This record gives sequence, C-alpha cells and structure tokens, in this order.
Amino acid sequence: MSNSADVIIIGSGIGGLTTAALLQERGFSTITLEKNSYPGGSCASFSRQGYTFDAGASVFYGFSRNDEHGTLNLHSRIFRKLGVDVDVVADPVQIHYHLPDSIDVPVFYDQEKFFASLTRRFPHEARGIRLFYRELEAVYEILSSLQAGSLEDIVHIASVGGRYPLKVAQLALMTFRSMGKTARKYISDPQLLRFIDMESYSWAVQDAVSTPLVNAGICLADRHHGGIHYPRGGAGAIPAALCRGIEKFGGVVRYNTEVEEILVRNGRAEGVRLTDGDILTSRAVVSNATVWDTRNRLLEDPRYHISEDRFLRAPSWFQLYLGVDASVIPDDLNVHHILVDNWSEYDSPGGTVYFSAPSILDSSVAPPGKHVVHAFITDETSRWSHLRRGSSEYREMKKKVAREIIRRAERLLPGLGDAVEIEVAATPFTHERYLNRFKGSYGPLLYPGQNVLQKPQNRTPVKDLYAAGDSTFPGQGVIAVTYSGVSCASCIARKLGNPLDYL
Ligand SMILES: Cc1cc2nc3c(=O)[nH]c(=O)nc-3n(C[C@H](O)[C@H](O)[C@H](O)COP(=O)(O)OP(=O)(O)OC[C@H]3O[C@@H](n4cnc5c(N)ncnc54)[C@H](O)[C@@H]3O)c2cc1C
Repeated sequence: MSNSADVIIIGSGIGGLTTAALLQERGFSTITLEKNSYPGGSCASFSRQGYTFDAGASVFYGFSRNDEHGTLNLHSRIFRKLGVDVDVVADPVQIHYHLPDSIDVPVFYDQEKFFASLTRRFPHEARGIRLFYRELEAVYEILSSLQAGSLEDIVHIASVGGRYPLKVAQLALMTFRSMGKTARKYISDPQLLRFIDMESYSWAVQDAVSTPLVNAGICLADRHHGGIHYPRGGAGAIPAALCRGIEKFGGVVRYNTEVEEILVRNGRAEGVRLTDGDILTSRAVVSNATVWDTRNRLLEDPRYHISEDRFLRAPSWFQLYLGVDASVIPDDLNVHHILVDNWSEYDSPGGTVYFSAPSILDSSVAPPGKHVVHAFITDETSRWSHLRRGSSEYREMKKKVAREIIRRAERLLPGLGDAVEIEVAATPFTHERYLNRFKGSYGPLLYPGQNVLQKPQNRTPVKDLYAAGDSTFPGQGVIAVTYSGVSCASCIARKLGNPLDYL
C-alpha cells in the first residue's frame, strides 16, 4: 500500500470525494482517508433491521438527465464523466410546508402549481410573489449558464468573464444582495415574508435577510428546473458511486483511517500523520473537515488557529430515525415536510421540525409494509454538555426529545408514536463524534452584512493545503459541497500543471 500520492484528501464527505474523483480521472494519484468504515459523511446511509436510513441529506439537486438544465446539473455531469451511474427517482414536491397562520404550501416541481398554492393563501400578493421568484430565476439563469470553477482561479474567472462579460458583471453585483431584502422590494405581507424566511431557513438555517440572493437563486429556482431527486437505495448511493469512480481510475479510499495532523514545513503542507503514527506524503493536501477542525485540530502551529467566532457557527442537529408501520403514512403524503407551530420559536432548537419519509419514493429502503421516517431539529452541544454520554440521564434526555418530536409530527401523522417499530436517536455529540465536526455544527454561515466572497474558499493560509466541503463557498448542501469539490479540484489541477476540462 503506497503512502504517497499527488493529492491526499482528508475525509470522504461529498466535497472530499468529488475533489478526489475529478483529480483521479484527470490522471493525478489520490488517497482519500476516512475515519469511519463507510464513505459519505452527512450524505451516507446506514442500515438497521432491514431499514436503510439517510444519515443526513435526503433532498437532492443536480440529477436532471437533461443537459438543458445547465451547468448546475453537477451530479449528472460528474457521474457521466466518471462513467458511473446512480439510479434516481424524481420527486414532484421539494418540501411541503406546514406553518402557523394556516400556511400549508407544497412546493411543486411545476412552478405554476407552486405559485397557485402560495397565491391561494396570499391572493393580494400574487404579483409580488411572481416578481420576487422571477429575481431568483434571473440568478439561476446566469449561474446555470456559467461553468463551475473557483472564484480564486484567475484563469477561470478571466475565461468565463471574457466569454460572458455581462452575465459575470450582473452576478458580481448580485453577490452583495440578500434574499430577504429582495423579497421586501416586492412583498409587504408580514406573514408571507415569514414564509420567505422559512424558504431560506429550511436549507440555510438563517433568515432570508441573512441569506445571499446568489445561494437562494440556486436552491429556490433549480427545484423547478433540474428538480429534486432521490437515489435508489438511499443517500449512500451517491458516495458509493463517487468511490466507484475514484477506484475505477486507480485512486484509493482508505476507511477506518483518521488523520491526526497535517504536516507543514516552511509554510507548505507536505502530508499527514495518522492517529496510528503512519505518515503519508503528497504534493497537495485537501481537508474536507470543517474550518474549525482543519485550522485548530489538524494544524499544530498556533499561527493558523482561529477563534470560534471568526465564522458564524450554524447549530447542530438532534436526529431521529424511525422504522414505522406503513399504515401510519397516508397514500398521498409528500416525502419532505417542515413543521412550525409557533413563529417566535422557529429558529430555536426544536422550533422547526423537518421530516422525510423517502421510502414513499423508494420502497427498497424499508421492509415490506414499513416506511422510514427521518425527523430532525436544530440543536446545540451546550444543551447536552452537562450529561455524561451513555449515562441514564443522557438516555432519558434523548427519549424526552424524541417523544417531543414524535408528538409534534403527529399533527401530520396521527398515531405515529404507536407505529414505531425501531428508533435510533442522534444528538449533537453523535454528529460531532462520528463526523469530527466541531460542536456537531452544520458549518460556518455568513454574519449579517457579509457577502458570499467572505466565505472561506478552497485555498487556505498554508500553501498546498486546500479545503473542500460545506465550510467553503458556496456552503451547506450536497450540491453546494459538490460545487466546492469541483472548484477545489480545478484549483489543484491547474497548480499541478494539468487543468481540468469544464464539466
Ligand atoms: C440532518 C441533516 C440533514 C440534511 N439534509 C440535507 C438535504 O436534504 N439536502 C442537502 O443537499 N443537504 C442536506 N444536508 C447537508 C449536507 O448533508 C452537507 O452539507 C454535506 O453532506 C456536507 O458534506 P461535506 O463534504 O462538507 O462533509 P461531511 O459530510 O461532514 O464529511 C466529512 C467527512 O470527513 C471525515 N473526517 C473528518 N475529519 C477527519 C479526519 N481527521 N480524518 C479522517 N476523516 C475525517 C468525516 O468522518 C466525514 O466522513 C443535511 C445535513 C444534515 C446534518
């Protein structure tokens, strides 16, 4: 087993695997090191008693079979390049919102149907609704016509800017705009503005004013173009396919292999040391860990360390994985739901309940006559830190939080509690421990007033050390970290002398 490669990647999250796959396909040798026994990080699957649960993500963009859906259609483009396949099922509804003030709105793939359902509740805002979402469409139209690449890659920026000067200029202006402020240009009904906040919070865990228009333009427009899909067999089918691609071109993914330190000499990363003391060397190192873990845990030199508040830390999660009797899931239930009972608490731990039942789309993830339900709320390690992991108090608190989530979900699924056959709960500490994520955080967010260019990018203060994943631009979400993997791979490939072709 070789202990040296052109590029070492720390972590097999989707950001890390995408970087590895594209570099390996281009002819660079890669070794991806993963502490767990499986790939995918927050986009993995795990099985219990015949049920397959998605560890985190289950709403997926970027899988359209139709190339007209532009350059943001990244999964399809990458899998085609690698010559591997992921079988997906189209989902006709991205999310079904169940909010206070009788706001009950499914977001259909068909945008006209979505407008109709929103306008039914807010008829006096019919024009404002169209104008606001039209702005998001404009962002999407620009982004989906530009090739994916790094904002730090001057050659890429010059090439795209030269070809599409007007679009790039428009996009540059948009980076300073917020989704919420744009909404307020067209919409005045405070209840509708709260709905717009939820449209942002559902994926960005921030209100609309704090969310860049550019990010919103991807999430809230592409769902009506490329659409939402679910990979057959569960979320883990995505990392599994990326690993097949890496291995097909001769790359290596090593499991149960944890990196303890990134080795730096004279300001350059030149390899890593594993927890078992082994040393691996490379021309470049990529960290798929969070920005806090990369800077404070993996780099020894305090000059590279950062304070916790250097970036706004998103909360963590409490997650509940349920195997349930199929009788509790109505035949016409949509797959993904967001439930808020009280506006004043929507952004506090437990204020918003997310739940998904992907076995509605893919029956292979549950035994016959059963369904999987993944329900989760935002949470913080600080709510749990007074309890010893594994103690009876810790277990009691897990049960209490789980009961409360089930009670809330029973508003939609009466009798859910009695239909549960198996139950697995994960606290912010589980998230922190399994994925080595600082405080189990969902990753860094922008402080109010910051723009997307102030997010960490793929380069780091250490030469030849790069970053990919949700700590880097554009941010959280599987399609976003895929973008970050593409831009990271393109930076490294250019630096090492064999630039990538555009996807
Ligand atoms: C509950 C939940 C629901 C979500 N729902 C959605 C959704 O529906 N749709 C969507 O698009 N996104 C969703 N997301 C977000 C999405 O899953 C993440 O943004 C994305 O998967 C993060 O990918 P990543 O590459 O940044 O890293 P991660 O998934 O965090 O992976 C990093 C990997 O690196 C490994 N690692 C870390 N440190 C080391 C080390 N020192 N040595 C070796 N290995 C190491 C970890 O074990 C892990 O496997 C959800 C996330 C959560 C938590």
